[in-house]
Amino acid sequence: MARYQGPVCRLCRREGSKLFLKGERCHTDKCAIDRKSYVPGQHGPTRRGKQSEYGMQLREKQKARRIYGVLENQFRKYFKEADRKKGITGETLLQLLETRLDNVVYRVGFASSRDEARQLVNHGHIIVNGRRVDVSSFEVKPGDEITIREKSRNIPRVQELKELAEGHKVPEWLEADHENYSAKMVRVPAREEIDVPVEEHLIVELYSR
Ligand code: SF4
Repeated sequence: MARYQGPVCRLCRREGSKLFLKGERCHTDKCAIDRKSYVPGQHGPTRRGKQSEYGMQLREKQKARRIYGVLENQFRKYFKEADRKKGITGETLLQLLETRLDNVVYRVGFASSRDEARQLVNHGHIIVNGRRVDVSSFEVKPGDEITIREKSRNIPRVQELKELAEGHKVPEWLEADHENYSAKMVRVPAREEIDVPVEEHLIVELYSR
């Protein structure tokens, strides 16, 4: 299945919540969901109808997929892996998604959105434990050190991001040293440290049907 290439603000409007897919713009009054909070479509503003139980579960799964930019098959694999592991399946699922390399690069403030983080990774700008990793789904483990490749530090956008990162709040399960373009994963995040507007139990219910 191909990656969605259309206007990403539509996805937020479809889900009825801010998914923060557009970097800096999401924090300004240009955010589309603040201006047009109705469902997108050619028939103009329409009300959100009452949803069935299945509809709610499906929407929650789509929301999580869109936040992390993961395709359907990949998302199902994450669910299967979470289901196999010990612990609460929904929480484990979110932990697996949070520890993806692109998400970690975004969380530490090296990129303004997960999409931009994915580009940095895919274009080979990110180093993990001294080795270049260009796979955005790479699973970061506690103790792993993430840096921006030395050659890439002069790229104007990378420098701009460094300035933006100064006001960025890094979650406690990660450490960042923006001055030296480096970061570290301290531990796996607890559920309450993962600030995504997702009710993961609905996703578990969906896949358990
Ligand atoms: Fe979503 Fe960001 Fe667009 Fe607002 S600006 S609708 S949060 S992607």
